[in-house]
Amino acid sequence: MNEIKIQIRTRFAPSPTGKQHIGGFRTALYSYLYAKKQNGVFILRIEDTDQARSVKGSVESIYDGLKWLGIHPDEGPREGGEYGPYSQSERLDMYKKFVQELLDGKHAYYCFCAPERLTELKQAQSAAAKPPKYDQKCLKLTPDEIKEKLKAGEKYVVRQKMPSEPTLTTFDELRGKTLWQTKDLDDHVLLKSDGFPTYHLANVVDDHLMKITHVFRGEEWLPSFPKHVALHGAFGWKMPKFIHLPLILSKEGGKLSKRKGAVPLVDMQHQGFLPEAVVNFMAFLGWNPKTEQEIFSMDQLIEKFSIKGLNKAGAIYDTEKLLWYNAHYIHHAPAEKLLQQAKEFLPGGFSDDLYKKIITIEKSRLTALSELSEITDYLFTKKLKIDTKILPWKENTPDATAQALKFSADALAKIGEKDWEKQENIEKTLKTAIQTSNQKNGPILWPLRVALTGKTQSPSPFEVAWALGKEETQNRIVAAIKACS
Ligand code: GLU
Repeated sequence: MNEIKIQIRTRFAPSPTGKQHIGGFRTALYSYLYAKKQNGVFILRIEDTDQARSVKGSVESIYDGLKWLGIHPDEGPREGGEYGPYSQSERLDMYKKFVQELLDGKHAYYCFCAPERLTELKQAQSAAAKPPKYDQKCLKLTPDEIKEKLKAGEKYVVRQKMPSEPTLTTFDELRGKTLWQTKDLDDHVLLKSDGFPTYHLANVVDDHLMKITHVFRGEEWLPSFPKHVALHGAFGWKMPKFIHLPLILSKEGGKLSKRKGAVPLVDMQHQGFLPEAVVNFMAFLGWNPKTEQEIFSMDQLIEKFSIKGLNKAGAIYDTEKLLWYNAHYIHHAPAEKLLQQAKEFLPGGFSDDLYKKIITIEKSRLTALSELSEITDYLFTKKLKIDTKILPWKENTPDATAQALKFSADALAKIGEKDWEKQENIEKTLKTAIQTSNQKNGPILWPLRVALTGKTQSPSPFEVAWALGKEETQNRIVAAIKACS
């Protein structure tokens, strides 16, 4: 029998309420990986029906973040697509039709209760240690009473009527079945008094209309899950599969939050994290390949990702692990690739050629590109401070130190400008000169390093000389010789 292959369609459905953190982008990443693995479609849908919570610029920052990470929506507000528009605020008319359908089918009802009454109800319930829940007062209204109230222009909301069966079952791909008591579920609002749908209605309707097959979202949406199942049921729709991703926990315990380590993705970019490192790190926040392999490119993640590899248990946000990934990707990236992001941490006004040399010699010492600003100041300074206490090799006299520096200067003088461009030439020339004159590396190279960097720890003097260029290298050696006397 020919099996009909259904196209996998996943979506990332953020609400534009400010800068997105790693948690949101992890949802996007998993949705993307799952879709791409199966030649499916990944959709970006903006859930902006709560206008009061919308923050200007959020959509741009979502797009910037996705682009930076290398997650490309196939359909979305900017990409367009068959099932648009992809911003819910542009779909308001569609939802009205579905609200009417629910009202007609008695799966929803008008509620005219004033906010004051609802507040009192809540307070009474809270005083009696009961969970807040609408008491269904308006469910008892007769059709004539409703008609009259509508005619009189009374303000109303539309509430979902929970199913009359005593229990409701949800199925999550990671957690399996959960049985819910319908009496515990609130007849929550679907259409607000301003005519806007709530998140619940718009989310369920759009998952259906956009033919979403798999919903990946955070565990914090689990309490809403039975309501969504009931809504799909009321419409008689086939449900997408649901995968509620584990919470991200801070290392000190508790949910990762703004106060506890959650950093907006844009900030991570400006802290010198590489997108490849963030992707790799994020992938492991709730998933693992069940092998020892830790380094994964996006393509490898697409190949290996599976729902089976996801965990239910909370994922610990381990900053050290993130830095470990970042260091790995920085060390392995060509300078050219790091250039744009690295420039943010280097003084302006120099050539890309110089920046690339600096990145080349320093990158193996970095865990984040931001560290460049501190460790490279010696390269840009016009007047390097030399501490004569650290300049000599061991107990060498100032005289011997000056001689050693002179030795380096003479050897280096023989390298032409063009040959200087190759770092190996500098190393070979100096080392050969040391050998042929029966000297030792330490007494020569130690003061040279200090003369060029002002420090006892740095990239090798050959690397530094290469980055500084011939003229600056010679100038620094001369200055150090002067400091000896
Ligand atoms: N708009 C919801 C959010 O901001 C989406 C939840 C879901 O994926 O269903 O997280």
